[in-house]
Amino acid sequence: MYGIRMSFVLLMVVLVLPTLSTASEAIPEIILDYPWDHSPITVYIDNISVPEHYSPTYYTQIEEAMKYWEKGGNRNLKFTPVFELVDSKDADIRIKWVENLENVEGAPSGVAGYARPRISDDRYLRVDIVLEVGNYQGKAWRQYGDATMLSIAKHEFGHALGLGHSSDRRDIMYPEHEQRDNINPLLLSKYGPLLRAAVFVALIFLLYLGVSWHHSRKKRKKLEDEYFK
Ligand SMILES: [Zn+2]
Repeated sequence: MYGIRMSFVLLMVVLVLPTLSTASEAIPEIILDYPWDHSPITVYIDNISVPEHYSPTYYTQIEEAMKYWEKGGNRNLKFTPVFELVDSKDADIRIKWVENLENVEGAPSGVAGYARPRISDDRYLRVDIVLEVGNYQGKAWRQYGDATMLSIAKHEFGHALGLGHSSDRRDIMYPEHEQRDNINPLLLSKYGPLLRAAVFVALIFLLYLGVSWHHSRKKRKKLEDEYFK
């Protein structure tokens, strides 16, 4: 009986932890205060290998998104970023478009863009931003307009500057439709251990409750056997 309960708890640890570590609620508003150890931050925009429905006007939206953050963005940055466009894939931030994230990258349905950072010692080494150019609404394919592209780009740049998600609906870092946006679980690495520890403590407590319930039942059974024969 005890063995069964124990293996159940272990199974829960295995099942619950991965779910928790990808829960977006756990993403703090600021993930890294100073994610880049140098300035300017170089940006490479891949407008050469573009998907079928790419619009040349999207390039301008990236430039606008960069200006937005250079001018202070949503006021949540602790530093003022300076960007420099470069023509090399060795850039700090690399941006590319794909036709549809679900099809091309196997992203969950409705995801419009993501920022994937490579982190070392609380610094970003590189951030890859991938944006899709449109999405299915029902069965119909709809290409994103410039305004949508701009807001997706601003949002993903926010991640590339160390920001997480905001709970304020008016903030650019609010996951407008959580589905339309995705953040790499890697970003949780800083907070993952804390979360895991909390879950572990909770599970130990549950286990303790289970064991003491088992004990008291045994005790009662013994008393019953002694007195109610
Ligand atoms: Zn996001």
